[in-house]
Amino acid sequence: GVNIGVLALQGDVREHLSALAESDVLARPIRRPEELADVDALVIPGGESTTMSNLAISFGLLDPIRKRIADGMPVYGSCAGMIMLATTVLDGRPDQESFQGIEMTVRRNAFGRQIASFEADVEIEGIAGGDFHAVFIRAPWVEQVGPDVRVLGRVDSGDTAGRIVAVRQGNLLATAFHPELTGDLRVHRYFVEMVRQAAPAR
Ligand code: GLN
Repeated sequence: GVNIGVLALQGDVREHLSALAESDVLARPIRRPEELADVDALVIPGGESTTMSNLAISFGLLDPIRKRIADGMPVYGSCAGMIMLATTVLDGRPDQESFQGIEMTVRRNAFGRQIASFEADVEIEGIAGGDFHAVFIRAPWVEQVGPDVRVLGRVDSGDTAGRIVAVRQGNLLATAFHPELTGDLRVHRYFVEMVRQAAPAR
């Protein structure tokens, strides 16, 4: 089977570990470069991307994760994890770093200062079974994508209709929302399938 790590520096690590366990894969927390070397794929949780960036640097994980991504490791990032995967971050701290995965510009805390959190039903390409009930918490949106990025989902109503909230580029997947908080396993199962497709037979 496949081994998936959850980056465990900060954020809702436990929720992702449970969602992966329920999706029938081995999942383990990753805090050190040696642990990263043992997994086939990585999930970057929601949390606070500025803190995650600082901790990734001090735990010596920034460059190893960038390298694994460049080598094709599948990664899924939710919310802060989406920010960590972006090549360009708007409204970030000046010293904020990312793993430079998906060619996209994301804006932090984009959905408005008054309504920091909201829920919406999002249709996601490649995920069957109806709209995904998405929970957004101080979420980013995607403002621009490169030519190789596939937009999988957008908010479809309200002031923010049309904003991109789910994307994929090759083996990298990101959502602005938090499927790990709702008990709907379809995004995790989609990612697990990506990992299985990418994994060398053994
Ligand atoms: N606002 C957070 C950030 O910029 C993301 C929020 C979240 O992950 N729920 O990192």
